[in-house]
Amino acid sequence: MAGIYIHIPFCKTRCAYCDFYSTTHEDLKQQYVDAVCKELVQRKDYLKGETIDTIYIGGGTPSQLDINQLNALFATIETHFPLNKHPEITIEVNPDDVSDSYAEGLKQTPVNRVSMGIQTFNDDVLRSLFRRHTEQIARMATTRLREKGFQNISIDLMYGLPGETIEQWENDLQQAIALNVEHISAYHLTYEEGTPLHRRLQKGEVNEVSEELSLTFFNMLIDTLTKAGYQHYEISNFCKPNMHSRHNSSYWQGIAYLGCGAAAHSFDGTSRQWNIADIRAYIKGIESNEPCFDIETLDTPTRYNEYIMTGLRTSHGICFNEVAQRFGQSLAASCKKSATPHLESGKLIMENHRIKLSREGIFVSDAIICDLMVLT
Ligand code: SF4
Repeated sequence: MAGIYIHIPFCKTRCAYCDFYSTTHEDLKQQYVDAVCKELVQRKDYLKGETIDTIYIGGGTPSQLDINQLNALFATIETHFPLNKHPEITIEVNPDDVSDSYAEGLKQTPVNRVSMGIQTFNDDVLRSLFRRHTEQIARMATTRLREKGFQNISIDLMYGLPGETIEQWENDLQQAIALNVEHISAYHLTYEEGTPLHRRLQKGEVNEVSEELSLTFFNMLIDTLTKAGYQHYEISNFCKPNMHSRHNSSYWQGIAYLGCGAAAHSFDGTSRQWNIADIRAYIKGIESNEPCFDIETLDTPTRYNEYIMTGLRTSHGICFNEVAQRFGQSLAASCKKSATPHLESGKLIMENHRIKLSREGIFVSDAIICDLMVLT
């Protein structure tokens, strides 16, 4: 099994906190889609004929493409890659793009999972983050997708926003639960260098929330969503039973994937490669059959570190036997030695021969993961 990721680096406007690679130049969309289709064909053997279990159209804002452009991408994939009978096919959308006709059009594509960046239900905060939508638009978009028959909807929330109070976060969580979506991802805001929000932080116009408040927000997130029936299956991800993101889970399990488009990453089990983060250079490279990318071969300690980093973030955890099988006895012994004090302190727990973060451990996950990793 393997996955395909397509990066759509177009955004109508740029959000204040975002440092993802995207552009507001819309004139290149068709040329870009043609280039991605060409790259898919050029790299059809990258996954060595593995069956494609998941396709993820991410961005940027994929809903800035029209339905014909999306269908061109899917038709190319279907022609050149063997697809699982029931693949998970996700598209990220901006609530503002989900008009009735767009939702209807989307339903005519192979997409069966929609991930929507809502972030918060507070209109003042949405405006200050330069988001295009309002809470009412987000709600309407969810209803439309449901009415068109989408049965797997995910939303993104953000917390630790400037000036955010406990009441505001509680309200966001309750509004998210009321939407009754299958999946919720929730991330703490980070002030990325070079973003408008980071500049406002530096000028003292906004303040970071305290560490104590961040911790309270995280506790509220886990308690409120699990009480509402969501499973906490990864540090930042919650789902209704059996509705986890198959695509993201396959990343965490080290399954190979092909990433096409500007700035997209690919992984074939032993090496990682990433396309140039520049639309024009990307298109030019593909059109002239001289793709611009960098590649890194992953040695065993690097692959072990990735396994620890991703495995411990999930409720699936890690396993000493698996470490020994995949990375050798010496790394398994080192892993056991580093994990022992955390198992004794209760920050890690052992269940069915797998090691996972305990509730207490989740709050210091970075430090624990760091302890289990090795120098490369
Ligand atoms: S958060 Fe999403 S919509 Fe906003 S600029 Fe970044 S990629 Fe574009």
